[in-house]
Amino acid sequence: MLIKFINFFLILEVVAFCRNIFLAFCQILWYNYRIGGDSIQKLISRTIFLFAVFVIFISVFFIPVLEGTTSHRVLENPEILDLNPNGFVWPIPGYTRLSSPFGKRTAPTGGASSFHYGCDIPAPQGTKLIAIHDGEITFLNFLGAGGYTLTLSFDAFQVTYCHIDPHFIVSVGDFVKQGQVIAYVGPRNVYGVPGNPYKDENGNPTNGATTGSHLHIGFRIHQQYQNPMDFF
Ligand SMILES: [Zn+2]
Repeated sequence: MLIKFINFFLILEVVAFCRNIFLAFCQILWYNYRIGGDSIQKLISRTIFLFAVFVIFISVFFIPVLEGTTSHRVLENPEILDLNPNGFVWPIPGYTRLSSPFGKRTAPTGGASSFHYGCDIPAPQGTKLIAIHDGEITFLNFLGAGGYTLTLSFDAFQVTYCHIDPHFIVSVGDFVKQGQVIAYVGPRNVYGVPGNPYKDENGNPTNGATTGSHLHIGFRIHQQYQNPMDFF
């Protein structure tokens, strides 16, 4: 934005400068014609000379300046994405510790399954969740034990992000790019969900079956649950 403003004023300066040069040349011609007593032929040759000087001046000094201010904008900082060999990026930058891996487990809270169909990665509420791959948002709603849940689909994959913030920033049907922020880690407690059976120890409704803010990520290929860590 600032760069655009600077460019805009720079262009204004160049235009003003050109106008001043033009007026100065007109004054020289006028002075030589009326006071110096130039002939019409002399006036024409002077005009051509000054016009040539003007064109050379503009092309040598100003066109490179103007090009310099506009052409580099194509290089908008491309984000460096840390692709793994499967072509995926990690869904929750900055957080890698798993609190609960994929597979059999002792359910940590009432209503959580004893077979864990995904991985849990603890992170504070508001942590960015990014698309691991280009894809389409195919589900976005409260989904039982998953709480507020987003599904990203591509090829045969369905990747679910559970316990997310209910203030959604994408919509079902959106096509998102790999690395794009698609949601945030949600709060532990959510209110106003009709029929939500999940509650914490104080009886307050929770964002699905959860004991604290985290991302639960689930992978399905052709509807079969897979261990997400097999892909990272
Ligand atoms: Zn989980």
